[in-house]
Amino acid sequence: MSPKHQAPRGTRDLLPGETERWQWAERQAREVLERYAYREIRTPMFEDFELFARSSGESSDVVQKEMYRFQDLKGRDLALRPEGTAGVCRAWIEHNLGAQGRVQRLWYAGPMFRYGRPQKGRFRQFWQIGAEVIGTPAPAADIEIIALFVDLFEAWGFENLTVMMNSVGTPETRRVYGERLRQWLEPARERLSVDSRARLETNPLRVLDTKDPQDLEVLTGKELSGPRPRMLDALDRESREHWDRVLAGLDALHIEHEIDHGLVRGLDYYTRTAFEVHDRQLGAQSALGGGGRYDGLIELLGGPSTPGVGFSIGLDRTIMALEDRAPALPPTPMLYVATTDGTREVAPSFVRALRTVYAVDFDLEGRTLNAQMKAADKSGARLVLLLGDEEWKRGEIILKDLSDGSQQTVEADALVEAIDQRLEPATSEEEE
Ligand code: AMP
Repeated sequence: MSPKHQAPRGTRDLLPGETERWQWAERQAREVLERYAYREIRTPMFEDFELFARSSGESSDVVQKEMYRFQDLKGRDLALRPEGTAGVCRAWIEHNLGAQGRVQRLWYAGPMFRYGRPQKGRFRQFWQIGAEVIGTPAPAADIEIIALFVDLFEAWGFENLTVMMNSVGTPETRRVYGERLRQWLEPARERLSVDSRARLETNPLRVLDTKDPQDLEVLTGKELSGPRPRMLDALDRESREHWDRVLAGLDALHIEHEIDHGLVRGLDYYTRTAFEVHDRQLGAQSALGGGGRYDGLIELLGGPSTPGVGFSIGLDRTIMALEDRAPALPPTPMLYVATTDGTREVAPSFVRALRTVYAVDFDLEGRTLNAQMKAADKSGARLVLLLGDEEWKRGEIILKDLSDGSQQTVEADALVEAIDQRLEPATSEEEE
């Protein structure tokens, strides 16, 4: 029987058991970001459609096919954000963040929305965590952002990651290179997919993004004259210098990287440095994260000419790739408060006081002691605090240790000490 309502296609629920793994991953990330002295920014999940149309580029897949675009009741043209950088830059301009310091180091995390065809590792609502350095064209910023990117993956337990690198130069480089690519592909035009043929006219670089097997075959260039032109050969002098300095910086930090001449990134706003990390075991949707420099973006959005560089990482895929390496956190040592008919009424205030210190469960339905003890077992609680009629009158509580079945009666005044004594040995064992 299928329920009447299901999560919309391409979205999913993260249930307890799964959320602990997410919390762990988010906590690891936050620690690294704090050590890098990045500060969190939270921007709205929807913005003017125009913001994304401008920043991502009218011809990008994201804008053409994947946007959750809608009108609100006043007819405003809005869209759910497909990525985080445009909103961050909009906020940077709107609040004049440049006045608060030459260089801003920012991070964000949250859901993004793209109307793609759902498949393994591709969702219509997915989470990204990202970082941006806004305000400097210095290669040191690219190097730092890539080091941070790599260190996040390391904190999550990934090993031997290789960062794929390319430079997409300036808009001028891309125009020149796009034209070279178009000319090179021209003899094979008829064998390209309909999409790629269209891109050949509007934005030839986008052809390099194709996933179509036939297109990929054409791109190997076996049947074309000469090797495929490379973007790096089309770089202007400054972009070339920038590129050399970024690579030297990565070498100095011993960050594994390889050049991928086909890496162009999906969005139009990138300039110079572009990078990605893949996990081949994930199959077709293997990109875990990527980023690059976007020196023209803030100006394009109506701000002062201001360079920036950043990345975003897809948390859904990253956590999938981690499998059970993202540990579900052990439950907090839990107490279960059990009552008899005579003490049921004191339970809420007793539990409330305990909850200022411990994670505490108790029965809400006035069930029998027997049923409460079964529930305590199921809850994963370590200790049961049994409020017996007679004991309660004497100011005593029965402490039952579910790990070994032992039991003691303690004075209310000595309760916390007795609980801690029972919980502590277990904690120190876990830490070893
Ligand atoms: P992008 O800006 O498109 O390179 O996205 C950055 C990262 O977000 C990718 O490397 C993926 O890990 C993740 N991502 C992008 N689109 C999706 C999606 N539809 N579902 C899940 N993750 C995604």
